[in-house]
Amino acid sequence: MNELNFDSGCIYDIAVIGAGPSGSNFSRLVDSVKYKIVLIDGENEENKKPCGGLLSPDAQDIMARYNITLPSDILVSPQIFSVRTIDLESGLIRHYRRSYINMDRYKFDRFLLGMVPQSVSRIEGRCISISQEDKYYLLEIKGRERISVKIKAKNIVGADGASSIVRRTFFKKSTIQRYTAVQQWFYSADTNPFYSCIFDSSTSESCSWVFFKNGFLVFGGAFKPSGCRIAFEEQKRKLINMGIIPGNIENSLVRTEACSVLRPHLFKGFCPGKNGVYLLGEAAGFISPSSLEGISSALLSSEKLADAFNSGKENLIYRKYKSGTLYLMGKLKLKCIKRPFMYNRKLRTIIMKTGILSINIKESAVK
Ligand SMILES: Cc1cc2nc3c(=O)[nH]c(=O)nc-3n(C[C@H](O)[C@H](O)[C@H](O)COP(=O)(O)OP(=O)(O)OC[C@H]3O[C@@H](n4cnc5c(N)ncnc54)[C@H](O)[C@@H]3O)c2cc1C
Repeated sequence: MNELNFDSGCIYDIAVIGAGPSGSNFSRLVDSVKYKIVLIDGENEENKKPCGGLLSPDAQDIMARYNITLPSDILVSPQIFSVRTIDLESGLIRHYRRSYINMDRYKFDRFLLGMVPQSVSRIEGRCISISQEDKYYLLEIKGRERISVKIKAKNIVGADGASSIVRRTFFKKSTIQRYTAVQQWFYSADTNPFYSCIFDSSTSESCSWVFFKNGFLVFGGAFKPSGCRIAFEEQKRKLINMGIIPGNIENSLVRTEACSVLRPHLFKGFCPGKNGVYLLGEAAGFISPSSLEGISSALLSSEKLADAFNSGKENLIYRKYKSGTLYLMGKLKLKCIKRPFMYNRKLRTIIMKTGILSINIKESAVK
């Protein structure tokens, strides 16, 4: 991103904070001829968002509706058709059919950003404060050179993820469960790569994952913020003891990354915004509470907000957006209901023992 189109004297109709999947998709779809839009983000290769980079079937459906095809350089190797579910407490392992696309998340974000029309102004920087001045919002943005600029906007769109400054500024009372995601990348020459979903209630209330990307083994999970690193290391030790990851893995550590990740509950956590200030994607709490999959919700919510703006009735934007996201919220609430079944140790053991819906992997297929 650069400051090419940035006009410091202008009052923007919409300031979009964050150019992840939700911010880029919104900026692509909203009518940028009718509205003067600015998209603000300072992400680059060095501070990129930690992510599993698996594109779910729901996200694929949304992309299919817009006839968006992924260039091959976004895909990483290998593409796998099942997920190995590992229960560290019972020692049970089952394989389930899943059609994820394994991709380079940073390249995917850049790809979506590349589809934003030139008519949208862009600022490379982080929004560090937002205040209200009469009918406008005043945003202070710090660029990479530590220079700060101020811009005015009539509407704010918070597409700024789990640590959203928009949510923190305007919706202090809307609380949501927050975890710390910790993820490590290791060099790996594994000849039998897999995707896995790991359950271990003694170290995490969420699921963890191991998968492979272009010669790297990636292990990550979401943990309670206090003691997150200890819980992460404990889980890694258990995976080593079970022979899931090699005992000498530490010698091939490439990097460790961490960030916040949110988990909505049935009756709290979702926050689409209010008139003039809207939240998208993870900032709004639109993320699966069971699997932490969030790209599809980011794409869907941004589509709904763009539709609401494009409908032309400014006083109805919030109402239209809220009703547009009812289906998404309903789906995520169903996942909140499903969650205790997945995370209850006894129930999970029974389900895994029955083998229902699982695939039998042929012994001869495991190298
Ligand atoms: C470790 C981990 C693994 C995950 N794996 C998967 C997965 O495999 N598949 C999946 O579907 N989902 C996954 N998720 C969830 C998914 O990453 C998010 O739900 C999704 O990225 C949300 O998209 P978004 O556009 O709402 O926010 P984000 O993708 O978080 O984008 C927010 C953007 O806002 C910018 N930003 C933040 N604050 C500011 C500011 N103050 N000023 C300017 N810019 C700002 C950031 O730089 C970023 O570019 C994972 C999450 C984590 C933490």
